[in-house]
Formats: sequence, structure tokens, C-alpha cells
Amino acid sequence: MSMPCMGAFRIMCDQQGGARRAMEKNAKLMRALVILTMFHLQTGFVLLGSKRATLPASPASPVVNFVWNGTAPAITEKGDYQGGQFANLDDTAFMAELLQQAFDQWNSVPGSFLQMTVTRGTPEVTQEDGVNAIVVEKSANHTTAAYAAPYVPTDSEDTIVDCDIVIADRKTDAKNLAYTLVHEIGHCIGLGHSHTNYGAIMGYSRNARTTRLGADDMAGLIYLYPDPTYGSGDVKELVSCGVVKKTGAIDGEHGATRAILVLLFLLPVLTALAAMVLPARLVLSAA
Ligand SMILES: [Zn+2]
Repeated sequence: MSMPCMGAFRIMCDQQGGARRAMEKNAKLMRALVILTMFHLQTGFVLLGSKRATLPASPASPVVNFVWNGTAPAITEKGDYQGGQFANLDDTAFMAELLQQAFDQWNSVPGSFLQMTVTRGTPEVTQEDGVNAIVVEKSANHTTAAYAAPYVPTDSEDTIVDCDIVIADRKTDAKNLAYTLVHEIGHCIGLGHSHTNYGAIMGYSRNARTTRLGADDMAGLIYLYPDPTYGSGDVKELVSCGVVKKTGAIDGEHGATRAILVLLFLLPVLTALAAMVLPARLVLSAA
């Protein structure tokens, strides 16, 4: 039952109201923190925009071509890349190899129908021509080492009708260039930066110098270009499997780590909540 806030009850009411507001505010904050914490502990892929947009491909017509103009930056540390097997190639031949490998990585993910090819030509960097260009160019405008420009026209909200990739013409080491190419192609297929998986090629921050696709990169690709025939063959074998109770140090340790992390996130909120609620209770009991 609510009480009119007047006379001697005024302070108590105010404190109750204040405490309630604080609790409501903290409940919201706690929910947001739990979501953030769970999100932080999990992984995922991110799309380019708020809507799903893909290259113009379908299971019936899975091929999308890119046109490279044959340019390459000055590539260093070729010997450190894949055991030095391409170390003797000149920059252009090395770039051709890296491009093919980058496309092959995206093309060879089981469960995705998308097949990208790369040919040589004289493409222009413009979103108007529908030609997916790959060029290396010197430009004062380049603040980044590379960029991809996936173009989704407003009247076609789900199709990336053009995606040009521009690599800055500056000295770059082989591994970094390999990573950059795989990453920029990832934008062209419709993926944005994942903020949770530091090992993914499409991750915003990386803690590994890998040039291989991560699980989240592949999940994103399969989400955008699901192969309807994948896994639809005849059943070859049934798995005989019972339910096994989780035991063992590894599961236990992970569970404990997660519980500690959640507690660490929630501790300041719980402390603030207790501090706000307790004085109101004291006033109530004193009255
Ligand atoms: Zn990027």
C-alpha cells in the first residue's frame, strides 16, 4: 500500500522512493552487465550492417568474381610466411599467391556455397560498375593499411552489388598482407568486426598473428551463404551415445573461472545496491 508523502513520513517516503529508484536503476544495470558478461565470455560474428546483406550469389549460382589489377605493395619477410616456400617470388607473384590463398580459405569452408574467383584486369575503384576491384594504390587519404567498400544500394537492402578492396601502397610484411587480404574479403562477403573473438580474422582486436579463419569467421560465412545440400546425404551411421555427467578438473576449473568473472563484474553493483538499500531500511525500522 502506498503512503502519502507528508509530514513526519516525508523523509521516510523520500528514502523509500529513492531506494526503489536506485534498486530499479541497479536492476537495469545488473541485467545489462549480465548480458555484457555473458557476451564477453562467448564469441560470435558481426554483420556489416543491421541487416543481412550478401554478395549476389545463390546455391544455383555460387560464383562471384573479383578483378585484381596486378599491383602489389613492397612485401618484406617473405621467408617467414609458410616456411618460406614462396620466398623467391617477386612482389606481384607473391601477391597473386596470397590473393588466391585468401579466396581459397573462404571458398573451402564446409557448409557454405559461396565460391569466389579472382581474375586479372583493369578494374576501377567505383561502386557504380558492379565490378569487385582489388587494387594497391598510393594515396594521401589512406589512414589505414587497407579498406574494403561493400556497397549495398538503398533500393536493394540485402545485396552487396559492388565491393572494392584497396590496399595502401606501403611496405608490408608477408604475414600482415596475407591477414589483410583475408580480412578485407571478409567485409566484402558481408561481415563486420567482431568485438568478442580476439582470434578471429574479422576480430576488431587480435591477439594472434594467424592468417587462418577462426570458428566465428566460418560461422558468419555459413550463416550468410548456407549450403542447402550440406549434411543432407544418406545417414551412414547412428551415434550410440548416452548422457555423461560432466566431471573432471578442466570443466571444474572453467566453471570456477566463469563464476569468479561474473562475481567480479557484479560485485560493485551489489555493493552499491546494498549501500543504497540499507539506510532506508534503518529509517523504516527506527520509525
Ligand atoms: Zn576491417
